[in-house]
Parts: sequence; C-alpha cells; structure tokens
Amino acid sequence: MSRKLVILHIDGVSANTLERALGDGDMPHLQRLVDAEDYELHRYRCGLPSTTPFAQAGILYGDNSEIPSFRWWDRERRVLVQFGAGSTFEKVADKYFAGCTPLTQDGACIAACYPAGAADDFGIAYQDRSYGREPRSRSAAGVLVPYLANPVHLGDWVWQTVAVFGRTARDYATSRSEGRHPAPPYVATDVAEEIFVHHLTRYAVQRAMREAYSPIYAGFYAFDETAHAFGPTDPSALRVLKHVDHTVEKIASARGGGYELVLLSDHGQVDTTPFAAAAGRAFGDVLATLLPGFHVQEVKGKTYGRSKDKASGQVTAALSGGAAHVYFTDRSARMGYGELMARHPDLAAGIAALPEVAMVMLRDGGEDVFAIARGELRGAAIKPLLAQHDDPDILYEQMRRLNSFRSSGDLVAFGSFIEGKQVNFENQAGGHGSIGGEQLHPFVLAKRRWALDTSRVRSAHELHPILGELRDDLASGRR
Ligand SMILES: [Zn+2]
Repeated sequence: MSRKLVILHIDGVSANTLERALGDGDMPHLQRLVDAEDYELHRYRCGLPSTTPFAQAGILYGDNSEIPSFRWWDRERRVLVQFGAGSTFEKVADKYFAGCTPLTQDGACIAACYPAGAADDFGIAYQDRSYGREPRSRSAAGVLVPYLANPVHLGDWVWQTVAVFGRTARDYATSRSEGRHPAPPYVATDVAEEIFVHHLTRYAVQRAMREAYSPIYAGFYAFDETAHAFGPTDPSALRVLKHVDHTVEKIASARGGGYELVLLSDHGQVDTTPFAAAAGRAFGDVLATLLPGFHVQEVKGKTYGRSKDKASGQVTAALSGGAAHVYFTDRSARMGYGELMARHPDLAAGIAALPEVAMVMLRDGGEDVFAIARGELRGAAIKPLLAQHDDPDILYEQMRRLNSFRSSGDLVAFGSFIEGKQVNFENQAGGHGSIGGEQLHPFVLAKRRWALDTSRVRSAHELHPILGELRDDLASGRR
C-alpha cells in the first residue's frame, strides 16, 4: 500500500536532549507515539558548521557545500549572505543546488530556509521569518485568514500569547535574579516565534495533509530560539519541548490518508558564554587592535577601528554561534596562509592567544593550518587537540571539509570551552555552529521496521539519500 510522508524538523534539539526529555516524561505524547508505533531514536552527525542553513541544505538537497556558516561574505557577489530576518540568500541562490533532486520535489516545504522543489510552502518561509516569496508560494492571506477565522484557533492563539508572554517575562526575571545572563533580543524573538509561526506552521502542516501533499517537510524553531535565549538545559527551554510535544500530538492525530511521520533535528545546542562577557571586549574590537588602520564590521554587531572612509582596509567578522569567519572584504578570493602571514604576521597568533579562542583555522594551498595558543599545527597534527571535542578522526574530516570551502573566512576562529560552557561569538546563553558537546549530534526518530541506518552519516547531506529512499519506498509500498 502506498504511504505518504510528513517530516517535522525540530530545530536545535540534540539526540541527548530528546532522549532526556522522553526519559524524564517531558514529552508524554511523543512517548506514547514511540511506544504505540515502535519508533527508535537514531543519532547522526550534522557536520560543520552545526547550523540550520548548512544542515537543512544537506537534508533537503543532499548538498551543503559552500555554506560555511549561518552568515558569510560572498566575495564574488560582494554580498553578506544571511538567513533569518532580512535573508539575503536569494542574491546567491543561483550558485547553489544545481543538479540536485530536492527531498520535497512536488511536495510541501513549510518554514524552511529553502524552497526545496516543493509545489507549495503554504506562505511560510523560514528565510525571512514571515511569508514566502517563491513563485509557487501560496499567498500569506491564503493561510492566515482561514486560520484566524476559526474561533478555536483564535482562542488558542490568544491564550498562548498571554501564557507565553507571562512565562517568558517570569523566566527572564528569574534568570537575571539568579545572576545569569539571558539574551534580550532572543527573548523577544522566541516569544514572537513561539506564539505565531509555530502555530501557523502546525496549521499549515495539517492543511497540507488534508490536501494530500507528499512529502511534507516543516520546520519548528521555538526550542532553538528559547535555548539561544536561556540555554538548552534551562527549564524554559525544556518547557518549550512540552509545547513541541503538543504539536507532534496534533499532527500525529490528524494523520489521515496514509501518512507516515518522521521527526528529526538539524543540530543540537550547548550552554555558552558570550565572547564579549568572557573577554571584556567585543571580538571586533580585538580584531581592530590587531589590524591598525582597518575598519572592522561585526555581523551582527557594531563597527570598530578606523572609520570606513579613512581606513586602509575593510574586515568583516561573520559571527555564528561558537565560530567566527573573518573576511578581508576588499578581496575577490580567499587569502591563503602565505599571503596572510606576509601581510598580517601577528593576526592569527594574536587571535589564537586569547583564552576565549580554542583555535584559528587557515588554508595553505591544499593544507590545513591551525593556530593555537602555543604555536601552529599542520594537518592531522591537530587531532590530539580535537579529542576533547569529539571523535578526533571524524571531527578532523569535518573541519577539513569546512576549510576547503572557497566561501569560508580568510581565518576561522572557534570558541574555547571555559568551565563547561563554550565561548560564543554572538550574545546568546545557548549556541551552536561550532565544535564540541551536543551541537554536532542531532537525531532522527523513525519507525524501527524501516531500519534506517544513520550510523555512517557524518554530515547532514548524507541523510538526504536515506530519507529520499524512505520516501520512495513508502510511496511504492515497498517499506
Ligand atoms: Zn539556532
């Protein structure tokens, strides 16, 4: 019998986080589904960078090359590429995914970074946190009006709004009174995210199922947003998992017409300390000191050093969680090790000497160079140092791949772990995008009888053929 497929992407939930939440009884609806339909938890490796645009491109297209970060400088187009509010990916989109077969070809792809060949996105695109602008996108009103016209939805939404605002304000106050540092911009966005886009996405999935689309892929970001604001192990982040649990239950129970359900995440999160708090100054400020005469732009942040019109050169620091890509933006190609050392001999060593930085990665022809506090290591000589972060052989290959991207920074800095927390270049209490801890270890929750094998997945793009095969086998009745 032919079956359809719906995949729910629960952003930022590591395999361990999900396992703990199920074990602690925080997701009772999901636990019932796991028991009743015999699901099993698979672990996989998302690869580096451990961030949504990279992982989701891998899952949806089977290709995530040249996506070095959540935000980066495109040297050829001279564009700062970023996702989230004010996404600029469309300015470089034509350079990506040629010849790929998208996972959601002719299906529905809701609240994702990319259209992924879908026939419809139900008007919700993650790329700008509002409404899709793809040619085949349904109009926003087409989804929003029927949603709000239903008094049950409206009541649910108003109730949730009040509850979530109250809860977030309380969590924020508690967090501050206990001497912790929640990240205010994230507190605001997670509230907006949680009450609005989450509900709308859930509703869109239910509609897509009624309209018999397959496969359906939908992104839910409330956990990730809350974990950025408060940290992934904070009670408020765990509370959002209960909200996710409720959503899974709604969608699972609305499955008519032969839908099978898969849950997955794209990366995990780790507890973090903002760089500026740990170092006492911003990362851009450090760069400006090491590069006298330069204008340094932190994205997203302030500017440092000389004013733009009087500067001898321009530097952009694209900050993404626990990793930072540093670009000399006057250049049209990535600067190699030799030229960098000739022009700025103290720069890499100066960054690597900071206790907040674990290492700085550079490229010398086809070779990887790592600047660390006590000097420089080449190639596999870095492996003993990587062992504290993950399996050193696998992590080394993941770092080599990132370092092979033409779009990576001239230098790439990775935050160190201080007292169990990773130094994060963005002002967040929880983060990802770098190496170490659970950020590199997301999950796939699938029925045991499908016998998925994710044990060899070392980057999210290797998950694409596994899910594509499942989709096709379900459609043809083979699995
Ligand atoms: Zn995130």
